[in-house]
Amino acid sequence: MTDTNNTLAAPAHVSAIAPYQAGKPIEELAREFGLDPASIIKLASNENPLGMPESARKAMLAAATSLARYPDPNGFELKSTLSRLYGVPMEWITLGNGSNDILELVALALLEKGASAVYSQHAFVVYRLATQARGARHIMVPARDYGHDLDAMLEAIADDTRVVFIANPNNPTGTFVPAPRIQAFLEQVRARHGQRVVVVLDEAYNEYLDPEQRFDSVAWVREFPNLIVSRTLSKAYGLAGLRVGFGTAQPALTDLLNRVRQPFNVNTLAQAAAIAALQDKEFLARAYQLNKEGKAQLCQAFDALKLQYVPSYGNFVLVRVGDAARINLELLKRGVIVRPVAGDGLPEWLRITIGLPHENTRFIEALTEILRAP
Ligand SMILES: *Cc1c(COP(=O)(O)O)cnc(C)c1O
Repeated sequence: MTDTNNTLAAPAHVSAIAPYQAGKPIEELAREFGLDPASIIKLASNENPLGMPESARKAMLAAATSLARYPDPNGFELKSTLSRLYGVPMEWITLGNGSNDILELVALALLEKGASAVYSQHAFVVYRLATQARGARHIMVPARDYGHDLDAMLEAIADDTRVVFIANPNNPTGTFVPAPRIQAFLEQVRARHGQRVVVVLDEAYNEYLDPEQRFDSVAWVREFPNLIVSRTLSKAYGLAGLRVGFGTAQPALTDLLNRVRQPFNVNTLAQAAAIAALQDKEFLARAYQLNKEGKAQLCQAFDALKLQYVPSYGNFVLVRVGDAARINLELLKRGVIVRPVAGDGLPEWLRITIGLPHENTRFIEALTEILRAP
């Protein structure tokens, strides 16, 4: 035995990963600052401020009677609900433990050492994490106006590129690429690279788009065999704690993902709740409306405070506050949790999840007080 065995032997690409920085949990802040958890507001993780839909809670509790059994590994009922709602065959659907899982499955199925993935600067951080975990090369393309520069991303695709990640709307910046531009990109990728390059269109915030911004991305899945569209139940559907998402792609790509998927990746409670939530149009409409009003409330306040912000298409707003680390600390002292985004290359900015009206007000009052202090 020699001393050289005294370090864990991980591949260099794993040791190099900077772990995901999640929004601070309410209980943790309460412990750290000696605050009453009930007095804390969390606007840090793009969760739904309405809580989970009552319909989903009931369905989940009913399913809680059969937890000794493994979940349905094929998610038959959930997939048939999705199939009906989106008009695609069940064989085109992959269920995920959150849509994060779908992103991981794409990386697991397609990336390896010697391959690369393309994504945008300031895009969702999981694209980098999933790529790095496979030992693949990541090609980060500079953002344009805080959003995806699809022209530059097209040019950045290399001979070894197998995946392009696009978040639309993007997190943490809230930017949005209109449908014609995405479609043109898909056509350009096909013309140049055929099916060698898979495009992941991550639509985690799709349900917050205004009606005139909406488009049928699932129709593109029918046209492009190298496209996968991912959606989540974590945001507008209010089920972040249960972890459900899904991807829609043609059968050949879906089959590849299924090969690397854990058999029971979506649990029984999550499947039951998702089926109910997906059909709860009333809840979704309320979530959309509340978000629209909350966004206006925050943006008006930022205008009044003369703070720059990025017009948002999601359920959060990215705002430039200057010394974001200090302002974040001052907000925490006042029991307000938001998200610093220095790790996303935005050290002067904070990302604020849109909350209930009184939560937005609490945040605005705290921020105003901090900015006006001598
Ligand atoms: C929140 C988010 C997701 C995934 O969330 P899940 O809870 O894993 O479904 C995916 N993409 C983006 C851009 C997000 O902001």
